[in-house]
Amino acid sequence: MAMASAREPAEWDDDPAWSRPDPMTPEEREAWLDHLAELDEPPDLDEEEDPEDCEPLTAGELAEVERAAGDDLLAVEAATTGRRGPGMPGSGRVFPGESSSRAASFGPGMPLDVLPGCAQLAVAADAAVPEDGFAGVSEAELIGVLCAWDRVEAHAAARKLAVVAELIRRNPEPGSELAGPARMPVIWDEFAADQLAYALAGSRGQAEDLLGLAQVLQTHLPGTMAAFLDGTISRHKVGLIASAAQFLDPAEARAAEARVLGRAGRLTPGGLRAAVARAVMEVAPGKARKRREAAARDARVERWAEDSGNAALMGRELPPDEVLAADQRIRWWAGELREAGLAGGMDELRARAYLDLLLGKDSRPRSGTGGGPGGGGPGPADPGGPPPAAGPPPAAGPAGSSVPAGFAGRVTLTAPLATLARLADRPGELAGLGPIDPWLARDLATAAAHDRRSTWCVTVTDQHGHAIGHGCARPVPKSNRKRAGPGPPGFTFTPASQDGPPGGYGTWRLRTPGPGPDWRVTLDPIDTGPCDHRYQAGGHDPGIKLRHLTQVRHATCASPVCRRPAAQCDFEHNTPYEAGGRTCLCNGGPKCRHDHRLKQHPKWKVEQLPDGTFRWTTPAGRTYTTEPTRYPI
Ligand SMILES: [Zn+2]
Ligand SMILES: [Zn+2]
Ligand SMILES: [Zn+2]
Repeated sequence: MAMASAREPAEWDDDPAWSRPDPMTPEEREAWLDHLAELDEPPDLDEEEDPEDCEPLTAGELAEVERAAGDDLLAVEAATTGRRGPGMPGSGRVFPGESSSRAASFGPGMPLDVLPGCAQLAVAADAAVPEDGFAGVSEAELIGVLCAWDRVEAHAAARKLAVVAELIRRNPEPGSELAGPARMPVIWDEFAADQLAYALAGSRGQAEDLLGLAQVLQTHLPGTMAAFLDGTISRHKVGLIASAAQFLDPAEARAAEARVLGRAGRLTPGGLRAAVARAVMEVAPGKARKRREAAARDARVERWAEDSGNAALMGRELPPDEVLAADQRIRWWAGELREAGLAGGMDELRARAYLDLLLGKDSRPRSGTGGGPGGGGPGPADPGGPPPAAGPPPAAGPAGSSVPAGFAGRVTLTAPLATLARLADRPGELAGLGPIDPWLARDLATAAAHDRRSTWCVTVTDQHGHAIGHGCARPVPKSNRKRAGPGPPGFTFTPASQDGPPGGYGTWRLRTPGPGPDWRVTLDPIDTGPCDHRYQAGGHDPGIKLRHLTQVRHATCASPVCRRPAAQCDFEHNTPYEAGGRTCLCNGGPKCRHDHRLKQHPKWKVEQLPDGTFRWTTPAGRTYTTEPTRYPI
């Protein structure tokens, strides 16, 4: 099970064209809070109110709940059609024999389309598309040849690293024994890197990095090495896995790689980085914490000259919650600058806001002073707006604004309930940042519990972390808020009633540390089989609850390669409403503007499967899938 402190999510604004300043307007937020307040009380709860009856869940009981939840998962495994490699065929839409081009055997699902990276594949790809042209080769075949070269490239890089590993074996530090199944020394000769640097005309540092990667692949990551040789994962992705696993012992590293290798080939680098970071925190949470705490002592600000002649300024190894709060503050001030008429894209405005906040400047153009740089015109009339007319931005968000002064901002934290209840040490996640170790997750959740603006959601997941149930917590009625003594110091989650929505997971009582009220959580099902349309809206607009549930199922845009938070996406009908598509969980999901437009292009096709998987078919006729979000479990 996973729990989220459902503050409004941090933005994920890597697209300069994206300019929506705030995922939830104040009106939307009000409506949301009204919605929480208006939910009907289940009729039989009063007799359950004696807190003495609320025993915290034991680890065994929690496992029982998780198992029961898992049982409800239909045996619908999300199809894992990948973009590359063995066991991950493309699409069977083109039938064998249909093409007579020289590259026919690279068509979707054809033998060379799924052959692992090897020298023979290089020879075949070379012959299929000679240098003199691509005539007669279909786009689906071109993609097949492209992916074949990609696998060959990875295979060649893997073979090169295997040679480097042999050089390590032949040049151990005197006294360092060859050990383990890979027969590798722990330390290599002091001058081994120099020979490598001479041969490759690289720096000594690069050569040391190469030696380190070659060694860790042999001693710690045999599964990653095998996938590398097959061409399933690229050199860059191998580097991401090796870097995350470098603090683990060999057994832990194998356990961590096993958690990600099945999907490493189809994850984007950002997705893989997050997945492997989470896997490392799962297999060795204590080491992850020690690493974070040790690295925090290296906190610093770096400055350097850009090649262009400009300069760069960057903070490193900072506390994650404060980084998110600072980032939100920069976005807020950038929005103020834009409102005031300062010209420029959001990237430019954020950079300006960053310097304004550091230097105590105010770059808003003022009416009567000729407008802003770039002729953006005078700022709009300020209708009694809260920010001061002059001087530096205030140290905290002005009254009435939603700007955070610290972590008490709009941050979504997700953490396994077992972690919060101190029954287990499993990692959580900060939206817009990535996985966090269990201690940090507990600290942040506790901090959130002491902020009265925090709201809470509980998501039930299956064994993959896919959401299969969800409830938004609402305060218990005032009349029932008496507590029998201070209660346990941490989080507890106790049954409040066996009843609940049909097909759901009952009604629960959530107690958070600190002064806040206790919360009641009614867990609705998120179906993974045929939909009963219980959340269907009558019209085109999904309404708050349906929109929320689609965002729980897919916490990011439903494109296979996009990680934009769902809160910044459109609710998109998979079959258009105008074409008879329902406004329902079974026919909608979050898509960012870019992917919304892409889907509407006649050459692209998107299907939505009952379990929430999206299947995208590209102009070349190849299919790729997006599974629902995997929450930390
Ligand atoms: Zn919720
Ligand atoms: Zn439906
Ligand atoms: Zn997208």
